[in-house]
Order: sequence, then C-alpha cells, then structure tokens
Amino acid sequence: MSGRYDLVVVGAGPGGSSAAYHSAKAGLNTLLIDRQEFPRDKTCGDGLMPHAASEVALMGLADWLDEPHHGKFTGFSIYTTTAFLRQGVPPSLHGPRGYVVRRKETDARLLERAISAGADFRAGVRATELERSPAGNVTGIEAVKAGEPLRVETPLVIVADGVGGFAGNGMKAHQNAVARRQYFRDVDGPDKQDLHVFITKDMNSHGAGYGWVFYMGDGWANVGAGVSTAALARTGRNLKDFFDRFLEEPMMAAWLENATPEGPPTSWSLKMGMWGAKRYGQGMMLVGDAGSMIHPISGEGVGYALESGRLAASWAYEAHVRQDFSAPTLSGYERQLMSRRAREHLSGHALVNLVPNLEMLEPLFKACEKDPEARRTLVESFTGDAPVYSLVKHPRTLARALGDGLKMRLSP
Ligand SMILES: Cc1cc2nc3c(=O)[nH]c(=O)nc-3n(C[C@H](O)[C@H](O)[C@H](O)COP(=O)(O)OP(=O)(O)OC[C@H]3O[C@@H](n4cnc5c(N)ncnc54)[C@H](O)[C@@H]3O)c2cc1C
Repeated sequence: MSGRYDLVVVGAGPGGSSAAYHSAKAGLNTLLIDRQEFPRDKTCGDGLMPHAASEVALMGLADWLDEPHHGKFTGFSIYTTTAFLRQGVPPSLHGPRGYVVRRKETDARLLERAISAGADFRAGVRATELERSPAGNVTGIEAVKAGEPLRVETPLVIVADGVGGFAGNGMKAHQNAVARRQYFRDVDGPDKQDLHVFITKDMNSHGAGYGWVFYMGDGWANVGAGVSTAALARTGRNLKDFFDRFLEEPMMAAWLENATPEGPPTSWSLKMGMWGAKRYGQGMMLVGDAGSMIHPISGEGVGYALESGRLAASWAYEAHVRQDFSAPTLSGYERQLMSRRAREHLSGHALVNLVPNLEMLEPLFKACEKDPEARRTLVESFTGDAPVYSLVKHPRTLARALGDGLKMRLSP
C-alpha cells in the first residue's frame, strides 16, 4: 500500500465507513484504513436510534435493518428511583423506530458499503503520524502494517479513529465517561419493543449514569451500565463495581434470574458532548468519537458518527473541487455540524455539568410522569432530539418539580 489518494480516512467504524462511502461515491479516490481486521467487535449498547437508522438507510442498507434477528424498538421505558416514564421514539425520515444490532455486524455491513462505493480498504494498518509540509499543509500519513512502516500521500485526512490517539495534538477532548456491557440470552423483562433505561440511585447520587437492557430480535439482549468519570472520581469506585451493582438491583436480578450470559463483560470509554474538541484544521477533519460527537446525556454516538462522516465527506469533495484544503474552507464542516447539533449537544452538556448529580432531577422525573407533553420533551432532550431548554415550554410542570424539590430539601 503506497501511492497518492485524494483522501485518507483513518478508522473504519461507523464514522470512517460513512465518510469513505460518501466520498468514494462522490468520485474521490479514497483510502480507508483500520488497525484491526474485520469483522471486529466494538463495545457498545448496539442501539441504532431512528436518526442513525436514517443514515444507515442513506447508505443503502434499509432492507438489511429489518432483518428478523435485529431488535426493533418503538419506545423507551425509563425507570428512576421515584418515577416510571414510558414514551414513543421521536420519528425520523426512516420512520418511528430504532434498531438493536450487534456492532460486529453493523460495522462490517457499513464497511462493505464503503468498499462497494469504491473506497480502497486496508485492514491491519495503524496510522502513526500526520505528515505536514514546512508551510503546515497536510502531505500524507505514516502508518505501520505488521511492523513494516508505510507512507501514503494525500492532501486531506478524515480522522475517524474513535478514542484512539491519532492526530490528537490539541484536537481531541478528554474522555469523560466509561461504560460496560454484556450479552445475555432470555432476559425476562416486559415490553421488548422498548429500550429500557435505568437511572438508578447508585449511579446518580454522586454524578450521572444509567443502566440499560436493549433487546435484539433473536432472544439475546445487550445489558450494560455507563457512568461519568466524575462519578468514579467522587466515589472512588470503578466501572466494574457500578456494573455489578446494577445487575444486583432487585428488578434486574429478577429479569436475569434465568438468563445465560455470553462471554465476559467488556468496557470502553466515551467522549461526550461536542465540547472541547477541535473538529477541523488545515487538511483534516475529525468525525464521530474522534470529534467528541457522543450525545452528553444518552451516550449515543453511532448516528452522530454516521452523520458527521457524511458531512465531512461533502466538505472533502468541496475542498477537492476547489483544490483548497485550508482550515477556513474546512470550517464549513464545523459550521454545518454546529447548526445541526449544537443546541441539543451543548445544552445537554451544560445540564450534566451544572447539575452535580442526576438524583437532583427526581422531582422533575416525577412531575413529567403525569404530564405527557413535558414527558415527551424530557425524553427528547435526553435522546438529543430537543434542546434541554425546551422544557421551559412546560412551566406548570417545571414549577411543580421545583416546589417538590424544595419540599424534599426542607423536610427533616
Ligand atoms: C459501552 C458503550 C455503549 C454504547 N452504546 C451506544 C448505543 O447503544 N448507541 C449508540 O449510538 N452509541 C453507543 N455508544 C457510543 C458508540 O459506540 C460510539 O459513539 C461509536 O462507536 C463511534 O463510532 P466511530 O466510528 O467514531 O468510532 P469507533 O467505532 O470507535 O471506530 C474507530 C475505529 O478506528 C480504528 N482505529 C483507531 N486508531 C487507529 C489508528 N491509529 N489507525 C487506524 N485505525 C485506527 C479502530 O480500530 C476502530 O475500528 C456506546 C459506547 C460504549 C462504550
């Protein structure tokens, strides 16, 4: 592998495959590399939100989504210490449903689409350095395959390496959450057409976090828990401890009584909230987790990785046509991303950082239980489909939550 490409995409997760698919389809001579061999697993909840499903459908995989072994969900069941909220999913272009598909399968399918669009894919290749000219222009990348150094020339690189460290110099945000999941067969809970989310006291009295049960269509479920790194620091506990205690919660223990686990649980880290990352520079754009695109409350990142990959591809094409790979030209990518996602991501980021622990929101959860409109807004702000401040459209419910919160604080 050597030579010259219009574009090199580093990382073949959803962000990289989307960027490579759309770039190759537009006619760019695109190289896609990944340090791993495919198909490979990626620790994840496997949930594809409706907007993620729309992006998958745009890559020509709408029929594949509906295969019977995939989980299909049309609602959320949210359990907090004091409330139970049930809500339908916000519809998207692809329709009012999301999916639960093992990432090993999803990522392999997305990669196949990138290859069939014309991207030149090389597995087992780890990018090590971004090369720049003395004037600061990107000229290529250095990489390693099976211990052998490689060099590829390109004026433009899309960094889609997730939480990997490639080209991290001053660009990347810090990891601020961690999550762990395990597959179980025959989990015995109700309403398998919902995503089940548990905002437990254990995970939310000193930070933020939640547990989940996401059902697939073949009798398996993805069961997991994720917490903020602030929760780890404040409690001195580790992720494994939070996950183990989640499985021991009375409702979970009952659901798992006759369930069989598959393999050991695995963990991974997350950069949530669009905050603190720089997503473009001369000759480069960052997409997906590399660009800190995970929603700060839900922890959802696949749909945003696909979307940012698609938008970056359109700016790669623009830069190629103009033969201008400067930061001012590529800043169009950031502007487009911000206009689409900043309100939801930054208001969510503000909420999780301003509220010292999510337990403080219990009165709000309880008040929303009784008000369907406010409940819908609350769930949409948690899933990234509405900015958090749209809750002000429900002043009565907010006032009730505030009053109940004050009563709780003042009661002995
Ligand atoms: C436990 C857990 C549960 C989650 N649940 C959900 C969920 O249910 N729904 C959801 O939407 N999101 C979820 N997320 C987030 C989601 O997994 C990520 O947002 C998503 O994987 C981002 O995709 P990506 O393409 O940016 O990065 P990745 O999927 O991480 O892909 C990055 C790729 O880059 C490659 N790479 C890294 N470094 C290099 C290098 N130097 N050279 C070459 N290749 C390299 C890696 O091998 C990898 O294949 C969850 C995350 C965790 C940890």
